[in-house]
Amino acid sequence: MLLKASSKAVWNFIFQDLEAVAIGNDESEGSACNEAFNVLSTLKSGDRVTFEELELKQHHTEPPSHYSEATLVKKLEELGIGRPSTYASVMKVLQERNYVVVKSRVLFPEFRGRMVSAFLSDHFSEVTDYSFTADMENELDNVSAGTTEWKGLLKDYWARFSMYCKDAGKVEIRQVEKMLEERYGKFLFASLPNKNRICPSCSQGTLVFKVSRFGAGYFIGCDQHPKCKYIAKTMYSEDDDVVDPQKPESSFQPKLLGVNPGSNEKIYLKNGPYGFYIQLGDDRKGYSPKRASISQHIKDVESISLEDALDLLRYPVTLGKHPEDQQPVVLKVSKFGFSIKHRRTIAPVPKNLNPEDVTLEKALKLLLSKDAKRCGRPKGKPRVEEAMEAMFSQ
Ligand SMILES: [Zn+2]
Repeated sequence: MLLKASSKAVWNFIFQDLEAVAIGNDESEGSACNEAFNVLSTLKSGDRVTFEELELKQHHTEPPSHYSEATLVKKLEELGIGRPSTYASVMKVLQERNYVVVKSRVLFPEFRGRMVSAFLSDHFSEVTDYSFTADMENELDNVSAGTTEWKGLLKDYWARFSMYCKDAGKVEIRQVEKMLEERYGKFLFASLPNKNRICPSCSQGTLVFKVSRFGAGYFIGCDQHPKCKYIAKTMYSEDDDVVDPQKPESSFQPKLLGVNPGSNEKIYLKNGPYGFYIQLGDDRKGYSPKRASISQHIKDVESISLEDALDLLRYPVTLGKHPEDQQPVVLKVSKFGFSIKHRRTIAPVPKNLNPEDVTLEKALKLLLSKDAKRCGRPKGKPRVEEAMEAMFSQ
């Protein structure tokens, strides 16, 4: 817009909607913006301004494009992070831990990746600094060239790193949830109707972001938990199973499948924040009915029969005692299929192995396989540490 104003002197200036243009990321706009504001700030009330010309322009901003593996490697090279020998494993870890998903060669960040990244930059600021990795690699090059003594380097690094770990271990999980809520609130709460954060179930609570036990999943739920069990949105990290917010789980009405021939208790098919499950008996106060989650291998959940349900309710089955510590070795069914559990170690049962054929002997072998992993919380371990463990060790 071209305006002519008269005060002591008569001058012309162009007033642009600089705010809109500045989003175009043109750095020169910053100074043009200042210039225009300087001119505008000399205007006094009562100055005459005449309109000269109006030009309409439309400008579409575009988000920066996503990285592909190739462009990410290029960026890492620029920052001096990694070596040609490490790029492949960097990409592998990013995908294996579900920090990113690759679709048509484009890397899309997953929420899990954002969470880990936010947590690390908050509590391990030095380590997440780009130059840290670059410097460390130079140091390691020096070690291999024989100019740096490795023990000193490691000791120096370890002293600082263990301090970060100690501090991060004291952080309460709610603090982390709050930090993530502040950082990603727009994204997290965007799907809520009218962006209203009052709990629609109890009308008392506020919907907050929560990390589930053991850090394996995260969801938006009522802060009045356990009084109110409302969950608005579940975001699973383990299988990228983001529940469609258009179809809240509560829309699924429990389905009566039949009665348990032994006890005459009713058997239901229900849906909860962790997916579909079978429940034996009715909900009663102070009583937790036996439940069996439905493995993802059962594709057509709604056509599940009473026989299927009874089959699932047989689990968990104790296969025997572990010869080392006499603790039970259990065959159980989870959302992701059958698995073997011994204390905090869980090993998946391979899909080609019929769970009926799993013996104690086979189970012990599976517990030693590379797919076995530790889970849960050892006594006295702070929750955040355990959540971190779950995030990084998946
Ligand atoms: Zn509530």
